[in-house]
Parts: sequence; structure tokens; C-alpha cells
Amino acid sequence: MKRIAVFPGSFDPITIGHLDIVKRSLPLFDEIVVAIGNNSAKKYFFPLAKRLELLKNIFKEEEQVSINAYEGLTVDFCKSENAQFIIRGLRSSTDFEYEKTIALFNKELKGGVETIFMASSPQYSHISSTVVREILKYGGDVSSFVPKEIATIVV
Ligand code: ADP
Repeated sequence: MKRIAVFPGSFDPITIGHLDIVKRSLPLFDEIVVAIGNNSAKKYFFPLAKRLELLKNIFKEEEQVSINAYEGLTVDFCKSENAQFIIRGLRSSTDFEYEKTIALFNKELKGGVETIFMASSPQYSHISSTVVREILKYGGDVSSFVPKEIATIVV
């Protein structure tokens, strides 16, 4: 059986921290679905279509990686993709406390899925989409924090 993992997130926008987690997860799985969990009630900085376009562009050479978006429960989306695993990155103990709760729910819910945590590489552990958005808002240079495709699109 193929080992399929979903890497869910907002990716608003994707950063080199996210990219690092996907790259380091590649040897562990046959397929990785990088999936934008879209909440229609939430306001995003980049529209869904733009976030999808950026992800597709960034991973276009990577045969093991596909891009998708979903609304609703991550476990339901995993089922639709035949994925047995969820990947989440951990930057800090705050991330861990929050993620642990979600992971336990995702295991316990009907069709429960196992979450695999990957510790952030130390050089990226301070990078977040939130800070990147803040820098972009004030016209700052985010090129050291995001894949080069994004730097050329929005800077
Ligand atoms: P969400 O809104 O679901 O937290 P994000 O796009 O912010 O979505 O993050 C998606 C995943 O990537 C989360 O597991 C998050 O902890 C992880 N992540 C975000 N930034 C980094 C980073 N710099 N290093 C490692 N993991 C990260």
C-alpha cells in the first residue's frame, strides 16, 4: 500500500519553513498532498487561487507532491485522498501544545488519521506566514523567508 500524507495549512503565503518540511518528508512517504485548508469565513492575505498557483509553481518539478484545497475536516479530506498520515511542522513548544490537541482529535474522529510531527530546522524555526504578511504589508523585503517564486510575484 502506498504511504500517502497530507500536509495541511493555510500557506498564506508558503515560506521556506514549509518548503523545508515538505522536502524532509519526501523520503518518508510515496506521495505528499500539500493542501490548503480553506475556511470560507476567514479572511486571507492571498486569495485561494493565488495560494494554489504559488504552490503548484513551487512544486511543479516534484513528482511525489500534488497540490489541492479543501473545506471541512482534515480527516475527511485525508479519506478522499486515501491518505493515512497528516504532516505538521513544529517550531516551538507553543506549536506542540496546540498541535498535540488537534492530532489527538484527528486520531479519535471517525476515520482517524495519524499525525507525524517534524521539528523545524533551527535556521527556519522563527519563520512564520504571519510575520511574512506583516513585512509585506509595510513594503519590506521578504525574499529571505519565502521561496523565490513568491519574492518575484509580490515584491
Ligand atoms: P495553519 O494555519 O494550519 O497553522 P500554516 O500555513 O501556518 O497553517 O502552517 C502549516 C504547517 O506548517 C503547520 O504545521 C506549521 O506548524 C508548519 N510551519 C509553519 N511555519 C513553519 C516553519 N518555519 N518551520 C516548520 N514548520 C512550519
